[in-house]
Amino acid sequence: MTGTEVPTQDDAVVDVAVELDAVGADAIDVARAAAEADAPGLIGDHLGVEADEPRVVTHYFATLDPAYVGWQWAVTVARASRSKTVTVDDVVLLPGPAALRAPEWVPWSERLRPGDLGAGDLLPTKADDPRLVPAYMSTDDPDESSVAFDIGLGRERVMSYDGRLELAERWYAGGPGPESEVARVAPASCATCGFFLPLAGGLRQAFGACGNEFAPDDGKVVAVDHGCGAHSEAVVVPVSPPPPPPLVDEAGYDLVEPPTEAEREAATKAAAAAARLTTMPAGPA
Ligand code: SF4
Repeated sequence: MTGTEVPTQDDAVVDVAVELDAVGADAIDVARAAAEADAPGLIGDHLGVEADEPRVVTHYFATLDPAYVGWQWAVTVARASRSKTVTVDDVVLLPGPAALRAPEWVPWSERLRPGDLGAGDLLPTKADDPRLVPAYMSTDDPDESSVAFDIGLGRERVMSYDGRLELAERWYAGGPGPESEVARVAPASCATCGFFLPLAGGLRQAFGACGNEFAPDDGKVVAVDHGCGAHSEAVVVPVSPPPPPPLVDEAGYDLVEPPTEAEREAATKAAAAAARLTTMPAGPA
């Protein structure tokens, strides 16, 4: 006997046992012939019979088709009340317990992972996406509620409280958070860094953008207790000392003091007088 579900008077569903019909259970040859008609030469051993409904049973046969290892032919036969003749209702090939089957279908929206979206791809957002709410509803934030009509101007929906909570948890637990490798060995946190630019709204209490081009997270969101070695106050850059005077190799030269201005003038006058003497005409002897 096996069980079947039947509705009761108050619409509750209960499980009741169904008696295996003896006439249907004996009709193995009828069931095999029906299966052979569908797949000649591919019907194997009789594997068993189950009761489906009163006077309705299903016979199972192994398949000999090498493409369907572990599958079974299911042949359902039935008879009318007080009749000894069974007729075939259905013949179908079904996967057995050991059949090789494709994995359960997973919708693309559940298969999608961060980073899967490529250039030119479109990712539609569901109308009831819990991460988004109509712009006029985003009033849980005190800063935003004071300018509720301006917030979301030009945007139909904005991130909901749940959506922001989810992203804050994701960011905090990931690379921008305090547990990333670069943050754990950082000399100080982003909260005290001059390159830390706090976000607007409620998230500013926990997150900001890094504006240090030499930091590994430049241009990315970081948590206030994230950090890196490029912290603005991590190292005081020492002032370079003045350069020493140049060294002159004097080994192959004599050092000569240059003439003074007066000495240069006297030398110039002496040279001019000597030139005049040599150009004067000679007198009578
Ligand atoms: S430079 Fe480093 S410490 Fe400063 S904000 Fe960027 S990640 Fe944080």
